[in-house]
Amino acid sequence: MSESTKKLREPDFTLSAGPTMSSTRVQQAQGRPIIFDYDPVFQEIFRETERMAGELMRTDKDVILMQGEAVLGLEAAARGVVRPGMKCLNLVSGVYAKWFGDWLRSYEAEVVEIEVPFDQAIEPGSVREMLEQHGDFELVSLVHSETPSAIENPLAEIGPIAKEAGALVFADVVSAVGGTDVRPDEWGVDICIGGPQKCLAGPPGMSMVAVGDDAWAAIEANPNAPRGSFLSLLDWRQTWIEGGRVKFPYTPSVSDIFGVHAALSECLEEGLDDVIARHAAAAAACRAGVEALGLELWARDSSYAANCVTGVRCPEGVTISQTLAHVRENYGVMLSGGYGEISDKLFRLTHMGPISRSLYPLVSVSALGRGLRDLGVSVDLGAGAEAVLESLAQVPTKAD
Ligand SMILES: *Cc1c(COP(=O)(O)O)cnc(C)c1O
Repeated sequence: MSESTKKLREPDFTLSAGPTMSSTRVQQAQGRPIIFDYDPVFQEIFRETERMAGELMRTDKDVILMQGEAVLGLEAAARGVVRPGMKCLNLVSGVYAKWFGDWLRSYEAEVVEIEVPFDQAIEPGSVREMLEQHGDFELVSLVHSETPSAIENPLAEIGPIAKEAGALVFADVVSAVGGTDVRPDEWGVDICIGGPQKCLAGPPGMSMVAVGDDAWAAIEANPNAPRGSFLSLLDWRQTWIEGGRVKFPYTPSVSDIFGVHAALSECLEEGLDDVIARHAAAAAACRAGVEALGLELWARDSSYAANCVTGVRCPEGVTISQTLAHVRENYGVMLSGGYGEISDKLFRLTHMGPISRSLYPLVSVSALGRGLRDLGVSVDLGAGAEAVLESLAQVPTKAD
C-alpha cells in the first residue's frame, strides 16, 4: 500500500451533489440475493418500481426504466425524438442544458438557444416571445433543476407556453423529482427524464423516462430513432409494454432494481408532498446560513434557487478545490464545487435525500464556514449556525 492510499479514508459526511447517501433499507435491498429476472417475484418488483416512478413523477405517461445513469435516458429520449433538420429551441441556464444543445446539433437538428448567465433562471416571457416570433419550433428542451448551478427553471410556466405553440416539450427533471413540484401531465411536458439517485435517495444507475403519446408519435415518425439498441425506447415499448410486461429487451441489474424499489417505497410511505417540503426546508436553512456567514448565494435571486443544492459564490482569496480538500481532510465532510465550465466558481451544499433531514444543513454550512475561515476568509460562524437552526426551528412538525 502506498503512503497516499493508506491515509485515505471515507468521509464522515457525504454532502456532495449526487449521488447522495442511501438509507439502510436501500442498502439492504441491494444486498438481497439475486434472482432470475424472469422470476415472477422479480417481475412484480420491476412493475411496482415502474408504477412508483410514475407516481413520484406525477405522470400517467408510460415510464421506461432504463438502466444506466440518467444520462442514458436523456440520450435515448433525445435520439428517439430528434431528426435532422428538426427545429429545436434549447433553453440554457446551466451545463446540462448546454450539453443537451451539443447533442441536438450532433443529430443535425436546427438549434436556436436562449441562454442566460448560469446564476439565473430562464424567463418564461423570453420563451413566449421567441415562440411568437418564430412559431415553427418542433421541440423545446429545458432542464427543470440545473444541479450544477443550483438554479430551478419555471417549468410550470414554460411547459404550457411551449406546448400551446405546438412544440414537443422535453424536460430533464433528474434532480427535480422528489425535490420540487414536478407535474409533467399538467404542464404540457411530453417527455421527461428523472433519476433515482438525487432527491429520491436511490442508488445511481437508472433513468426513469416518462413518454407521452405525442412523444411516442414523434419517435415513431423518426427514421433515426434507435431500434435493436441499448438506447431504444421503441424496443422497450414493443418488448416490455406491448408484450404485457413479462419480457425485457435485455437483463435488468437485479440488485439495483431492488435498491430503487426500496428508495421509491420509502418516498411514497413518507408522502411525496412531505418529501418535497423536507427538501425545501433544508434549502431554506442552507440559504439563511450561508447569508448569515456573510457569503453570497450563487443564485442572483433566491426565488429561483434550487431545492436540491445550494450554490455559494466562491469568495476572494481562496479556490474551490483548495477549500473542498481542506474541509474533506480536516472535518471529514465531502462538499461539491461547481461542474463543467463553472467548476471553480461556486460551492454546492447538497440537501438531497437523507441529507435534507435533521441538522445536516448545519453540518454543511459550518463545515464550509469553518473551512473558509481556516483559509483566511472572514465569516461569522456563530451567525451562520444560528440562522440555520432558526430556519429549521420554524419548520412545522407533522403533528402541528
Ligand atoms: C445528475 C443529473 C443528470 C444525470 O447525471 P448522472 O450522470 O445520472 O448523475 C442529468 N441532469 C441533471 C439536471 C442532473 O442533476
